[in-house]
Amino acid sequence: MTKDKILLKGGCVLSMDASIGTLQQGDVLLEGNQIAAVAPKLEVGDCEVIDAKGKIVMPGLIDTHRHLWETALRATAADWSLMQYLQQILGPLAASYRPEDVYVGTLLGSLEALNAGITTLFDWSHIQNSAAHTDQAIMALQASNMRAVFGYGTPGTSVWEWFYESKLTHPQDAHRVREEYFSAEGQLLSMALAIRGPEYSSLAVSEHDIQLARELGIRISMHAGCGGFGPKYNAVAELHKKGLLGPDINVAHGNTLTDEDFQLLAAHGCSLSITPEVEMQMGLGMPATGRALKNGIRPSLGVDIVTGTAGDLFSQMKIALQTERALQNEQMLKQSEMPQVQLKAKDVLQFATVDGATALGLEHVTGSLSPGKQADVIMIDCTAINMAPVLDPVAAVVLLANPANVDAVFVAGKAVKREGRLLHADVHALQQKAIASAEYLMEKAAIAEKVLV
Ligand SMILES: [Zn+2]
Repeated sequence: MTKDKILLKGGCVLSMDASIGTLQQGDVLLEGNQIAAVAPKLEVGDCEVIDAKGKIVMPGLIDTHRHLWETALRATAADWSLMQYLQQILGPLAASYRPEDVYVGTLLGSLEALNAGITTLFDWSHIQNSAAHTDQAIMALQASNMRAVFGYGTPGTSVWEWFYESKLTHPQDAHRVREEYFSAEGQLLSMALAIRGPEYSSLAVSEHDIQLARELGIRISMHAGCGGFGPKYNAVAELHKKGLLGPDINVAHGNTLTDEDFQLLAAHGCSLSITPEVEMQMGLGMPATGRALKNGIRPSLGVDIVTGTAGDLFSQMKIALQTERALQNEQMLKQSEMPQVQLKAKDVLQFATVDGATALGLEHVTGSLSPGKQADVIMIDCTAINMAPVLDPVAAVVLLANPANVDAVFVAGKAVKREGRLLHADVHALQQKAIASAEYLMEKAAIAEKVLV
């Protein structure tokens, strides 16, 4: 029988809360769906005690930009540029999606994220081919028990109509979705509008879509600064001229935005999601980590697409850190100076926790082990072959850990992974459905890759 109180006892507590800091050995008390206390030693009666010795106890990671629906198409875009991705994944593949394919991809991707210690995720869902597709995407997020922001996007029925300088405004079904699924407060799921913005529609359409989100009282996310589209459309400057920037806007990527653009985003309280690996792979440009920081924005991190890379944030933290270092080092080497370390491992761990929460407007809900916040907590096994001995827990999480080291995951106090195993009812059956889904989609879209397992 599960008790209302769970005491995680004797772990290395990486709270990410400035007033608590890191406890080399400490206890974390979960009560109901909240974090009740964090201290070097807690005496609590009538609770379930979990031995956290040899574990790092920390807040769940936060992925602020991912397209979960594509999960069954893993690694299909491994060798594709952004334009090939648009023409294939958002072309015939997206158009072939049935509601059940959206469900399978979204749920499998959610479980993959939870398994990797991601407890909160922004699902940028531009596969709203029908109301049934939308319903299945939301039901999959509900079934996962992950904390998620459902980014209600556009249909994937035609990339030409919806993504190349599209004149079509955002689907009005947003009103029904808001009413039907998101009228209650305090759920694990919340809603945002995943709009195309000036780089993939027009300024007039963007204005309409932003106003739609504001009417609905939900946040907005858009891609901007993506490769050559950045200087071509000047999305941030144009939105600013129209008086449309605000703290409810999240920008994904931002690789080719200018310093002035970042200053405008910072001045209006907008947030930024960097997905470093996919950005470099697909030719969006170098990750904007350093330029964002220099201009007053704390970035957050995302995986973006598992058609291009693995679905965990450990690798994205590492890539964000080392890429920014390489960029800064190059600058110094060009001036015949020996490089010095500027960006630290702790910074990128903040991007993946507290800064991610802020980017999603959830800073009072999650992102740190702070009493009163929701109990989104993970434990990482420090005894694993790739981890021990752990001398610096922050560096160990950022540079050494991988999803296999995630021992336990709690979302709002509920365990979804324990002792290294996902607790979801039937992962194997879901994988079988994902294989069938991938086979169907590849055949229907006439893509020549064969699904092997
Ligand atoms: Zn994206």
